[in-house]
Amino acid sequence: MAFKKKFTPRKKFCRFCADKALPLDYKRADILRDFVNERGKIIARRITGTCAHHQRKLTVEIKRSRQMALMIYTATHACDVKKKSVL
Ligand SMILES: [Zn+2]
Repeated sequence: MAFKKKFTPRKKFCRFCADKALPLDYKRADILRDFVNERGKIIARRITGTCAHHQRKLTVEIKRSRQMALMIYTATHACDVKKKSVL
C-alpha cells in the first residue's frame, strides 16, 4: 500500500536526552522553535515526548527567548510587527 508508510506512529523520545550535545539555551531559538506551535504556544510534553526534566528547562528557556525578542509571544503580536514594518 502506498499510503501505509505515511501513518506509521513514531516512537516519541526526549531530543535533549538522546543528544546530550544539543544545546538547551535561549540563544538557540532555532531549536526552541520546534517546541512551540505556529502561534508561539509551548507544545505539551505528552505531544513532543520531552522528559519532565528537560520540559521544565525548555519552558524557562523559551520564556527567556521571548523576553529577548528572539521568539514570539503570540501570532497576533507577530502580525502587528509585520504591519508596522510595512507601513
Ligand atoms: Zn530529557
